[in-house]
Amino acid sequence: MAVEYPFSKVIGDMMYASHQNPITDCLQCGTCSGTCPAIEYMDFSPRKIIGMIRANLKEDVLSSNTYWSCASCYHCTVRCPAGIDIAEMMYALKRYSMWKSQFKEGLIGPDFSESFVKMIVNSGRSYEPILAATYLPKYSASAIVQEALTASGLVFSGKMNLFPKKIKRIKNLQNVVRRILPLGETS
Ligand code: SF4
Ligand code: SF4
Repeated sequence: MAVEYPFSKVIGDMMYASHQNPITDCLQCGTCSGTCPAIEYMDFSPRKIIGMIRANLKEDVLSSNTYWSCASCYHCTVRCPAGIDIAEMMYALKRYSMWKSQFKEGLIGPDFSESFVKMIVNSGRSYEPILAATYLPKYSASAIVQEALTASGLVFSGKMNLFPKKIKRIKNLQNVVRRILPLGETS
């Protein structure tokens, strides 16, 4: 019978894999929340999210926008008195959320992340027009026109390719990624 580990342990283990202090060391001092530049966009502050993870409130954590709103600035990480890498914790939540296909509806982050990973696996390069397709539908018509004008300016000035290019030996990259992700067929 498969063992269901507590949510706090799963996220804690994902962070431990990157050599960070356990979230059980959190003092709930609020330094991370006080230093976070993105807090006004978050459903719950970083301090609160840590408390919720420790209380195994998995559904509430995963259905919040907090970890998708993190700007990865690492202010919280460098200031935490308990040495917890809160920014890495936000990444762990994103990975877990994508793994379980469980996230708040209407967010750009999950679609953007999926599109980015597929693009890198298929070409080995980032190509902005493909990424833009994941978030442009959420923009106004005038913003889309502005983006299109900016993109054509970049193409005409030679700063962006008209079509995406693949790196050499893309199969080698795909074989490396295949060791950690179930890729299926790749082009
Ligand atoms: S700064 Fe560190 S110890 Fe303080 S609440 Fe945030 S994670 Fe916990
Ligand atoms: S890394 Fe994320 S959670 Fe931490 S201060 Fe920056 S935006 Fe806030």
